[in-house]
Amino acid sequence: MRKITEFRSGKLAVAVTALLALAGGFVGISAAAASQPQAQPNTAVTGETYIIGTDTTFAPFEYRKDGELTGIDMDLIRDIAKNQGFTVEIKSLGFDAALQALQSNQVDGVIAGMSITDERKLIFDFSDPYFDSGVQMAVAEDNTKITGYADLAGETVVAKRGSEGETFANSIKDEYGFTVKALADSATMYDDVKAGNSVAVFDDYPVLAYGISQNNGLKSVTEKEQGSSYGFAVNKGQNPELLAAFNTGLAELKSNGEYQAILDSYLEQPAPVAASGFFGLLSDSLPALMKGLGLTLLATALSIVIALVLGVLFGFFKVSESRVLRGIASVYVSIFRGTPLLVQAFFFYFGLPQLTGQSIDVLTAGVLTLSLNAGAYMTEIVRGGIQSVDPGQTEAGRSLGLGYVTTMRRVVLPQAVKIMTPSFINQFVMTLKDTSLLAVIGFAELTYQGQQIYAANFRTGETLLIVAALYFIVINLLTMLSNKLDKRFNK
Ligand code: GLN
Repeated sequence: MRKITEFRSGKLAVAVTALLALAGGFVGISAAAASQPQAQPNTAVTGETYIIGTDTTFAPFEYRKDGELTGIDMDLIRDIAKNQGFTVEIKSLGFDAALQALQSNQVDGVIAGMSITDERKLIFDFSDPYFDSGVQMAVAEDNTKITGYADLAGETVVAKRGSEGETFANSIKDEYGFTVKALADSATMYDDVKAGNSVAVFDDYPVLAYGISQNNGLKSVTEKEQGSSYGFAVNKGQNPELLAAFNTGLAELKSNGEYQAILDSYLEQPAPVAASGFFGLLSDSLPALMKGLGLTLLATALSIVIALVLGVLFGFFKVSESRVLRGIASVYVSIFRGTPLLVQAFFFYFGLPQLTGQSIDVLTAGVLTLSLNAGAYMTEIVRGGIQSVDPGQTEAGRSLGLGYVTTMRRVVLPQAVKIMTPSFINQFVMTLKDTSLLAVIGFAELTYQGQQIYAANFRTGETLLIVAALYFIVINLLTMLSNKLDKRFNK
């Protein structure tokens, strides 16, 4: 009993410290708010819709609650938009991916607890600061060994890719002799520490404090470092009207008390939520996961159909008598088989828009990646299938007076298709699984939905089990169905 009380009061102390720390930041800002000049209406943005990128999980600034994106940043941008008469469409991409997306003009702005730093000012334009932050180190709750940077010698720490925490950790790693590993989101970083893969995490202190108050299994052991303030960012020289509207709206929200109300609402909220059992998690997460599964199947279906067309076209090129056609097909196959799918996805979503100045939506980029990639493998399947039909069959057809096309259609292809079908089914399954890689570009398929869920509830293991089970069931059902069809039509 004593243990439990101690445990509780420990948690309470942490929660209170977290709240005080947050309140400190808030008060600092609201004092500054009083001196803001009176806002002017901004008409350049009226009626416009802007796409805004954000982090996947950075509570209390952005996180999901019952599937909905919420948090200080989300309330701020939505209220500012309302105040200034424009609309926002929010894309929860992950911190590094959001910055990439901004640079590629895939989004118009980023709000993601993003620190205003001198390096970033070279490529982005920032709004007025709206929150003071700083980097802090945290370790697993039960870790008694690491109490300061000096204990990090020979150890591995984790930080978010592209973040100020990562920059800070790298700036002191040589002095203290530790290694820095970068991961994409806060939830995975915390899991990494709890699993013992790294001994400490460097993240922004308000976010660590909030997580700790929510029983995320960590504790902070050092003071926060002097850090920068958060700002809303647009690409340098672009969307100046959006930036101006943000500043005007922010000033208005500060003077009418709404800004403080937003902060307060997230301050009063964090009572640790009691964890529901596994089945509670299952029923809570199923709606979002099913939506994700739908997109997984959509992307797979579109990609496989296009890949099949590409495969048949280039497969025929490969067996054609024309050296040019064979050459074209070979180049295509070697490019898409010779580079990783992940690189291709990044290229189509982030790279291509930078090169062409044309933005591309995430489904198109995803389907383009998967279909071009699968098309290369399909090409080889088609070529292999055609070539595995005994050349004597073609000769027989031709000597019976049939033309090339007829021989192909009547004699070779029926036999080839039978040989190809198992490989087609195989490719279909692989493409379905490959859709999970599109999570990195923010395509909201099944894996992405799973990541969003454990980013918010810190129950990575159980959530991933559910996600894996869904893939397993769907893939095996579809394989059974395909095999049935194969038997029926190819016998
Ligand atoms: N404030 C940090 C930065 O800008 C981290 C932001 C985040 O992780 N969303 O680098």
